[in-house]
Amino acid sequence: MTDATSGTVRLRATLESIPRYVAGKPATEQPGRTTYKISSNENPYPPLPSVLEVVREAMQSMNRYPDMGTVALREAIAKHFEVQPDEVATGTGSVGLLGTLLQITSGPGDEVVYAWRSFEAYPIVIGLSGATGVQVPLTSDARHDLDAMADAITDRTRLVIVCSPNNPTGPAVHADELERFLDRVPSDVLVVLDEAYLEFNRDDDAPDALSVWRPRPNVAVLRTFSKAYGLAGLRVGYCIAHEQVASALRTAAVPFGVSHVAQQAAIASLAAYDELDERVRELVAERDRLLIGLRDLGYAVPDTQANFVWLPLGDRTLDFAAAAEAAGVVVRPFAGDGVRCSVGEVEATDRLLQVAADFATNAG
Ligand SMILES: *Cc1c(COP(=O)(O)O)cnc(C)c1O
Repeated sequence: MTDATSGTVRLRATLESIPRYVAGKPATEQPGRTTYKISSNENPYPPLPSVLEVVREAMQSMNRYPDMGTVALREAIAKHFEVQPDEVATGTGSVGLLGTLLQITSGPGDEVVYAWRSFEAYPIVIGLSGATGVQVPLTSDARHDLDAMADAITDRTRLVIVCSPNNPTGPAVHADELERFLDRVPSDVLVVLDEAYLEFNRDDDAPDALSVWRPRPNVAVLRTFSKAYGLAGLRVGYCIAHEQVASALRTAAVPFGVSHVAQQAAIASLAAYDELDERVRELVAERDRLLIGLRDLGYAVPDTQANFVWLPLGDRTLDFAAAAEAAGVVVRPFAGDGVRCSVGEVEATDRLLQVAADFATNAG
């Protein structure tokens, strides 16, 4: 018999190659002044009173399991976007749905094509599935290279992820290039459009994803209540897909994954859409102020259609992040590559612009 204390459990080998998710750091407390967390693309506004009210009520039944089929929520989403409830699947954030999308499409021997740098959850969920991730570098202006992505598709490709606007770099894909791209993707390969930042997108050339989706059975649109709707902590996202895919997503979902509180808060948020959209407009204006301010200082910031900006600082990335933290704003550094700064409170933007000005001066 083997010694019970020395044994190691045999885990799946794929775990060894999976990168760790680096969560945005919380704001560090500093005596005498407010500090800001602009490291996780969160909505800086507190919950709407109408949503909080619904959440308080929903908490009363936390001894019960939620509606496993998320029927009322799927109906509300379907109504809001003029699709059928059967074309909607929900999950524990869109990250939860991403994992399920991998489960229903891809396994060992299969390939998943996606742009890089993009959302850091992609290599994690792909790695866990056992499939092989195929990263296609962004263009020099930090955009998806959709021609190169189409070129990267092989007989083994089962899933393609297009992140628009792209986290962490900011640009959105354009309607014409997306249509051209989709025309080249085999009809049995699922293409997921990750639109976590849809509501912030003001690019005139952006596609209307649902019009793109409707005639194409192999396209799915992934969205979330975490960013524009301000429900990041409740974990609820949705996927609009044709019935075959949506139904598979519902079959593979973690049972009771989306809590009753989250379901109710999401329904209330759809009902309060106009009020939330007002905040989104404020954030877009603040984003543009940040973008222009940084460019005026000489930073080569790519276009952004999301609630963050990307500073491609290369090997000065960690220095910038440290300077920002010292000034009371915590950003998200990607070592050796760049810094992502979320759009938060007005004071956070002011503070960040001051850091950027000092940093530019010190760098000479
Ligand atoms: C934030 C984000 C998500 C959403 O995550 P949730 O799990 O819904 O909170 C999805 N995709 C991208 C690209 C993101 O940046």
